[in-house]
Formats: sequence, structure tokens, C-alpha cells
Amino acid sequence: MKYFSLNNREHTSNFENAVVRGLAPDKGLYFPENIDKLPASFFNNIQNLDKTEISFEAIKSFVGNEISNSALIDIIDQTVDFEFPIVEINDRIGSLELFHGPTLAFKDVGARFMAGSLGYFIKKGNLGKITVLVATSGDTGGAVANGFLGVEGIDVVILYPKGKVSEIQEKQLTTLGKNITALEVKGTFDDCQVMVKKAFLDSDITNERKLTSANSINVARWLPQMFYYLFAYKQLQKMDKKLVFSVPSGNFGNICAGLMAREIGLPIDHFIASNNANDTITSYMETEEYKTKPSVATISNAMDVGDPSNFVRILKLFKHDHAYLKEKFSAYSFNDEKTKNSMREVYSETGYIMDPHGAVGYLGLQKFLQTNPDYYGTFLETAHPVKFLNTVEEAINNKVAIPDSIQSLMEKQKKSLQISNYEDLKGYLLS
Ligand SMILES: *Cc1c(COP(=O)(O)O)cnc(C)c1O
Repeated sequence: MKYFSLNNREHTSNFENAVVRGLAPDKGLYFPENIDKLPASFFNNIQNLDKTEISFEAIKSFVGNEISNSALIDIIDQTVDFEFPIVEINDRIGSLELFHGPTLAFKDVGARFMAGSLGYFIKKGNLGKITVLVATSGDTGGAVANGFLGVEGIDVVILYPKGKVSEIQEKQLTTLGKNITALEVKGTFDDCQVMVKKAFLDSDITNERKLTSANSINVARWLPQMFYYLFAYKQLQKMDKKLVFSVPSGNFGNICAGLMAREIGLPIDHFIASNNANDTITSYMETEEYKTKPSVATISNAMDVGDPSNFVRILKLFKHDHAYLKEKFSAYSFNDEKTKNSMREVYSETGYIMDPHGAVGYLGLQKFLQTNPDYYGTFLETAHPVKFLNTVEEAINNKVAIPDSIQSLMEKQKKSLQISNYEDLKGYLLS
């Protein structure tokens, strides 16, 4: 499969180089040249397919012949070896739980698939050693650390803002050891991000180390996120209503993967981007004017993004046709107060505990259904409530049961290196 840069259609790449580079050399995001529809027989037969078979059919054209079928099946097997249930909230709304993976958030899927793909290319070829350099506001770090742990030929360096991630998130990225190094930055997530971007452009570093990033701009992290929309459809096929998905969105990688699943034929009628106070896209949908804003901190911190990097892919998918986009895609924003209220309400009415990200998704769905009653709605519950324990317990005014895996994680020893500025990072990478 060929990919082209959204900055310049002439700049193309195969799958392997798109995965190794992350961004195109002209800094554009990669986008597939062809998007083939799956045959109707695939959807007619989906009840008879298992998770690996469904995922394989969805992704194989995007990988092409660059990974052998048997290796691709192995990578998929390891990527989706947990459950993706839809839990009924009421007769019109279900919660698609994406947090049953090892780090309790949906990013496990993309991180594992990318680790598998990159590991395959390293084993096969002469890429040499690769350093995955990534900044995290919380969930990316843990998922990437876990996905890449022990993968031959890859070192992982994670920057995270000191004191600004939850305790569980910190443990998930600082306790693994082996090829994973956590750098604790005195600063904000934006500072971490700026340092990472600078390192990618610093030839002193790139002459010494081959760097790649592992955020959702990478096609190997972005595209496998199609899988769970297909797993969800398998559970929803029996509904005789139009389907709508509400996706709590930050960098818009997840929802953009859902739109790709629609593009390959999944019969989803509408998508809702549910946002917290970071409302760049909500404003864009109203004004058609794209104005980035500095990010503001919220209780759904994985969505505190002021300039969502994947939105250009969404515009491309909709051929920059605003009317067409509006027909199939809505965006809403909710503040922390509303988010907490919805957590409390849903808990007291149904006993279901939402995390703050899922709660934003729920709110978006509820708003859409008010004016579109003929739909069945699914919101993506992107993280386990225990990852945001304090916020959740305060909102529902009750205790949350802690899974065993988290109990043992909390007893592990944190290991990190403290850094204060770019020179510290550079010094570490050159050491
Ligand atoms: C990363 C993350 C999001 C946002 O996903 P995007 O693909 O960046 O839009 C939402 N919820 C949780 C829990 C996350 O970790």
C-alpha cells in the first residue's frame, strides 16, 4: 500500500517507511492512496468471524504485502487478545468498553499493533536500532511502554510532566525497566511535546540515533483503531436502527479511525466528536474557521489538546466539503462540571461507573439523541474509571473497586530520570 503526505501528494511512501518515519519528511501526515471497500459478504458473515479474522480483513489492504499474512495474523492476535464488550446503559445507549487491555485504556490496541509492525520490520531488515521518543499527558506513555516492552532493537524514551499524571499512569510508565526509560520533566505536557519536537529536528541527535514517534499520527497506531468499531458492529448488527458513535476526542486519532472503518464499508450513519473545554473543533464546525487554542487542563486530561493533529485527515476523508462533513459528523464540548454531573447521574440511575473521558462521550451522545431520536447510540469508554480514581470517587461519592492488576502495580518501585530542560534531554539521548 502506498501512502502520501497530506502536505504534498507527490511525497509518497510504502507502509514500512510510513511506520518508521511517523511523519513524512515534509512534516505532513501520511494518508493511504486507496481505500478499498470490504465486500458485502464480509458484513453479512461477520457473526461467524472472530476478532483476528475481522481485524485481518480490515487492515490487510493497508499493509499490503509488506508483512506476511502469517506474521500479520500473529501481530493482530497479540493486539486484540482482550474483550471489547458493549454494556447497555439504557435502551438507546451502550458503552463500548475499550479498557480491558493491559494499561486499561484504548491506546493499548494502537500501541501493540505499532510495536508488532515495527518489531517485524526491524527483525526483517537493516533498520538498525530505533528509539521511540514520545511525550505523554497520561495514557500514551503507559500503552507505548507496555506495547514495546522487550521488543528487540527498540529503545523507548517517554517524557511526562512531573506531578501532572495520575498515580496509576505514572506507575505504568516508570516501573517496567528493560528497554523503557521514563524522563520526568519539570514542566507541563506542552513543554514535553516541545522538547520531543525539537529533538526530531536536531541533527546532533538524529545523526546518532534513529528516532521515531509513537503517537496517533503514526499509521500503525492510527489504523488498527478501526478494529473495535468492527467488533462493536458485530454486537450491534441486530439493532434495526441507524447507528451513531460518540468518541471522546483529543488528537482525533480514534474518531478518525472510526471514520476510516466507515470508509471501508461499516454501516455507521453518524459520528460525534465529544470534547471537553478544549473546543477547537466544536468552534470549527460552527464557524468553518480553524483556530487553534492553547490547551486548558481538565479532568479528562487525555483530551487536553488545542490543535488536534488528526483533524487534517478527517478533512481529507470528507474532501474538504463542509456540508458533507456536517451531515455525518458533529462536535460538542462540555465543561468539567457537566462531566462530573453526568458521572453522578448515570451512576445513581444505573449503577454504571464512567471515567471522565467516557462521560464526555456520553454527554455528546445524549445531546445528539435529543434531536435525533431514531438512532441507537454507542459511546466509547476509553479508559477504566480506576485510572482517574480521585475524580471518579468524588463524582459518584462512592468507592471504586480496584482490580488486582492495579494493586500489584502500585506496589512496584518507580524509576525515572528527572530533567528540567532540552539540554538535559539531549544529554540523555547522546549518552
Ligand atoms: C488518548 C485518549 C483519548 C483521546 O483520543 P484521541 O485519539 O487523541 O482523540 C480519549 N480518552 C482517553 C482515555 C485517552 O487516553
